[in-house]
Amino acid sequence: MAEVLFISDLHLSAERPDTVQLFLGFLAERAPRAETLYILGDLFDVWIGDDLDTPPIPQIKAALYSLSQGGTRIHLMHGNRDFLLGERFCAESGCELLPDPSLTELQGIPTLLMHGDSLCTDDLAYQAFRRQIRDPAFIEHFLSQSIPQRIATVSEFRNKSGEATSMKAEEIMDVNPQAVADSMRLHAAQRLIHGHTHRPAQHRFELDGRQVRRYVLGEWHADSARILSVDQDGWREETVSPS
Ligand code: MN
Repeated sequence: MAEVLFISDLHLSAERPDTVQLFLGFLAERAPRAETLYILGDLFDVWIGDDLDTPPIPQIKAALYSLSQGGTRIHLMHGNRDFLLGERFCAESGCELLPDPSLTELQGIPTLLMHGDSLCTDDLAYQAFRRQIRDPAFIEHFLSQSIPQRIATVSEFRNKSGEATSMKAEEIMDVNPQAVADSMRLHAAQRLIHGHTHRPAQHRFELDGRQVRRYVLGEWHADSARILSVDQDGWREETVSPS
């Protein structure tokens, strides 16, 4: 099979120029060798609507678009911080929006792809907040506001205490094992790949008498990122460094 790459939790923003540079370098040099790139959520640290186009957003869109024009398919999943990424962004960046969860096959093995925040079911306050901000009426109202109003709303969320904000850098609870098992069972998946928790690892466990695996992608940093590559030779972790 041709190479497939998985990344997540880049948390790109104007405040993280080095991480943006690392990602742009990855898109220009490493990603074109892959047939498919999966971005499993939280590409951006915050996303308030496709109409905001301040740096570094135009550069990132152009680099993604150039990768897609070169023949690499880009599948983009929403994270909890950038779930408002929409059709316009996808058209301008050459990405295809991928539902969370999505089932795919890797080396013939049914593999479930998720961002991961929906698996953190022990965090009741977060799950309640998630339902609130994913409500279509809430989203419609939010997007109808001016850009300054939306920025104010987001910083309001950030200032609220505790786990009840998905848009601030909180200590994130880990996934709930039962939620993992339920999701994998529902989709008859033998592998699960997700991010969000910033606890990169490869977990092997038994589910209904079968050996299964949960692969957790790590967050990106200014000076390095761990990515997952899958091809005919198997699964391989790789480090991306500044060029
Ligand atoms: Mn996340």
